[in-house]
This record gives sequence, structure tokens and C-alpha cells, in this order.
Amino acid sequence: MKNNLLGLDEMELLQLVESIGEKPFRAKQLYHEIYRRSQLDFQDMTELSKAFRQRLADEFTLTLPEICRRSAAQDGTVKYLFRLEDNKFVEAVFIPEEDRDTLCISSQVGCNIGCKFCMTAQMGLDRNLKVPEILGQVMAVARERNLQRGSFSIVFMGMGEPLQNYKNVMKAFRLMVDPLGMTMSHRKVTVSTSGVVPALRKMHHEKIFPNIAISLNATSNTLRDDLMPLNQKWNLEELMQACREFPIEPRRRIMFEYVMLAGVNDSDADAHALLRLFCGFRPKVNLIPYNPNPGLPFRRPSEERVAQFRDILVNEGVTVFMRKTRGDDIAAACGQLAYMEGVSAGA
Ligand code: SF4
Repeated sequence: MKNNLLGLDEMELLQLVESIGEKPFRAKQLYHEIYRRSQLDFQDMTELSKAFRQRLADEFTLTLPEICRRSAAQDGTVKYLFRLEDNKFVEAVFIPEEDRDTLCISSQVGCNIGCKFCMTAQMGLDRNLKVPEILGQVMAVARERNLQRGSFSIVFMGMGEPLQNYKNVMKAFRLMVDPLGMTMSHRKVTVSTSGVVPALRKMHHEKIFPNIAISLNATSNTLRDDLMPLNQKWNLEELMQACREFPIEPRRRIMFEYVMLAGVNDSDADAHALLRLFCGFRPKVNLIPYNPNPGLPFRRPSEERVAQFRDILVNEGVTVFMRKTRGDDIAAACGQLAYMEGVSAGA
């Protein structure tokens, strides 16, 4: 089987090029063709000599994960099902919006964090995605939809806990935002985490990092321990402290996501407790009324309840976003991604 070059960075391409006796400058050209020009057919890499193109085609490949199903929702959202080379499946969701489009991608096959409200949790964890499988979701959808760079954002909010796959997620991120590579703005890439505190702290030391979103969903350790068992390892105090210490750039803020579950975490008292948790920094909050999933015991709060909760936060100066539910008729909404035994869960 030929080696897939997708996901190699410039240094790795340099080593590869030298190992086959080619001049070092070929690595830069190859890098440019793959990531800047999104060229996946060696024969179309016109920057390269004909002989080098043929050599690459003979020995290597540039392969994206295969899109094996597309499900389109009434609101224009499209859920993509990708088949990986070992016959595992992951999903990505393209969400068209007026001002800019968003592509939600997966970082793992399944997830072992066990959030009670999430369909992916039902799968358990199979494995981490490799760099080409992460980048490949972006490149495949961008090619199919002819997306221009800069016209869409990427969010790691699909299947998996991205910070459990730190090395591959961060390498894919660096390739996405490299000015000599895919040239995306790091401000247009968001990694959402359930609160893997050591990885969050590790990210403090990166030269460049994505936007951070924290999937919070509870204001007490008792409730969060139950809803998100990861909290038993790194509790709310530790998580909030790691957020406070995050070396955020001026004008960037951490986003806190709060999935509202009727009768569980949506009371006025919860909103006030949330305000107390935010004491000492300026967060953004994304309120996400729960998308019901068959088999899970949660309900979506009423619109009035959501509005009242939001107003308590807004009145204290918190910036609140209300995520519109998108793609729920194709089970592509938040917390609904899962793939089991050939059937997209919830679909
Ligand atoms: S919400 Fe995210 S971290 Fe939690 S189980 Fe689902 S995929 Fe994993």
C-alpha cells in the first residue's frame, strides 16, 4: 500500500524528499502544491518536474477520507459521513450561514468522555483520528462545495474530545493556519473541549492556538460529575482556573457552551451560579437549547425559560450567543452525531 503524504508537515516532507534523493527545495514545492493549492493529483502539480511527479505517483498517494453519504437538512445544513481506510466512520457537518459558513469536524471515532446528553458517548471510543483524517474532512468538503479560504470557520465539535487527541488535532490545526500552507486564520478555528485540563494547560505553551470553547453545562460539581463524568477527574474549580490562566490574545475570549436541559440546569438559580463561576473574567456564553435524542432522558426547555435564563446573564454584562438549532431533521445538531452499525444515530 502506498504511503499517504497528506498530513505531513514541511519538515517531514523534507526528510522524505531527501530520503529519495531529491533536492531539498522540492519539499517546499510539494508542500505548497498540497496545502496551498489543494492539489491532490501528483500529475497536476505543475510546479514540480515531470520526473519528480511520476516518482511521487509511483510511490505515494494523497488520499482524502471517502465521503460515502450526504444528508441534507431543510435549512441547508449537510451532514457528511466519511469512511476511513479501516472501514470506520466519522461525521462532519457543514452549516451554511448568512455571514459565514461553518464546518464542524470530528477528532475521534466515538468518544469515551461519557457526557450523558450526547449520542457520540453511546459509541464509546474506537480510536483517535490521524492528521490526514482530520484535515481530510476539511479538504473534502471544501473541494466538493468549492469553498474559498476565509469564507468558512472550522469547529472541532463533531465526534470525539479533541484534547484527548491533542497531538494530531494540533498538528492538523498548524497545517490549517500556516501562512505557507492552507492559510486559514487561527481565529476561524475553534476547539471545543469538555475540560481536559492538562491538555488545556499544555496549549498555554503553543506559539499559536485556536479559539477555545469549554463545554460547561453545569454550575455545580455534583451535577457536572453526573452529566460529564470527566468532571470527577478535573472539577469545575480546576477547569475555571485553567481558563483564567489561558494566555488569551487581546479581544479574544473563551467561549463557554451551555447545553440547556429542561429541569436539570436551566433554572434562574443556575444562571446566577453561572455568573458566580465567571467572576474575574469576561467570557462569551453560547446557550444551546438541547436537541432531543431518542433514548436519552432529556428535554429541551421552553423558549420562555431559555429567554429568561439568557436575560439574567445579559443583564450582568455577559455576551450571550444563542445557537440556532441547525440540521436537527438529519440528526446533525449539537450532540447528535454518532455512527453505529451502518446507521447514523438519531437518523
Ligand atoms: S459531548 Fe463531546 S466530549 Fe462529551 S461525549 Fe459527546 S463528543 Fe464526547
